Amino acid sequence: MTVRTLKSAIFHLTAVFRPNYIIMDISVVIPLYNEEESLPELAQWIERVMNANGFSYEILFVNDGSTDRSMRVIHELAEKNPAIHAISFSRNYGKSPALNVGFRRAQGDVVITMDADLQDSPDEIPELYRMITEDGYDLVSGWKKKRYDPLSKTIPTKLFNATARKVSGIKNLHDFNCGLKAYRNEVIKHIEVYGDMHRYIPYLAKNAGYKKIGEKVVHHQARKYGHTKFGLDRFINGYLDLGTLWFQSKFGIKPMHIFGLLGSLMFLIGFIAVVTVLILKIVSMNSSTYHFYLTNSVYFYLSLAFMVLGVQFFCTGFIGELITRNSAERNNYLISEEF
Ligand code: UDP
Ligand code: MG
Repeated sequence: MTVRTLKSAIFHLTAVFRPNYIIMDISVVIPLYNEEESLPELAQWIERVMNANGFSYEILFVNDGSTDRSMRVIHELAEKNPAIHAISFSRNYGKSPALNVGFRRAQGDVVITMDADLQDSPDEIPELYRMITEDGYDLVSGWKKKRYDPLSKTIPTKLFNATARKVSGIKNLHDFNCGLKAYRNEVIKHIEVYGDMHRYIPYLAKNAGYKKIGEKVVHHQARKYGHTKFGLDRFINGYLDLGTLWFQSKFGIKPMHIFGLLGSLMFLIGFIAVVTVLILKIVSMNSSTYHFYLTNSVYFYLSLAFMVLGVQFFCTGFIGELITRNSAERNNYLISEEF
């Protein structure tokens, strides 16, 4: 028995003295959008794995505005198994918002996310749980080493992952966007998955201060029912989001560091151009043969453009600073110890 499991055992044994504490090993969070055919099989499979390993658990289905019978099916499943719960959006918001509300509600020590389409295997749960609780990972991401997806998806995915590795600095991950992931509960409570950021949860976790990120090769299956909910625009949007995250993590709380620098540089170039134009003008005034026209000079336009742009960049940085000072989350720091 490792120190960690011993600690965890003591933590659970003393739980009776903390009235609001609920003992639960695992929360499975499943975002879904029109997956009625897969749900019964998925729920039974998870149930089987949990019972075989003696885990206490909850299954949190997050219905992302399905228009098919998904919600009906979940009601029927919940009648048979009290561990099944659901949050249902009134419209389709996207996978990230679905994960976000699931995370807010999840109570298990380990939180596992998986897709609802049976492409991810619940048989991976025990090992993922072990990696978080015993190996001490903050986050373990699945790696669909052998994928059962069309080539049009697997090739761009390789490029996408290579870029994500480079930009995020998380060098050991091969499959950022794998739906099957496991987290220590604390991690998901400290990240906000919004927009389409579910593709970069490891990066979000890293930026929040959770750096022990691992990977596990997982089985992947072809989609059995229904069809994929994401088109090729995922790759374009994916890259734009990566840019946003990179910018946020680098300059999010110090916007002046980039805009101030750019602004000052441009202003300087503009200023040099102005001085050049002035010198040329003065020289030409004293000459009878050479006449200098301001509007004929490239320096004149450079000075105008660069000085105006420079001031604008500077102001943007300044406004950015004011916004971050007023942001409610500016002091959301992760504290590892306190006396
Ligand atoms: N999904 C969702 N909201 C959406 C799109 C997808 O909740 O707007 C869910 C979907 O039901 C599935 C998971 O996200 O459980 C992954 O989607 P999909 O299988 O279509 O993606 P792919 O496997 O093709 O990457
Ligand atoms: Mg899928």
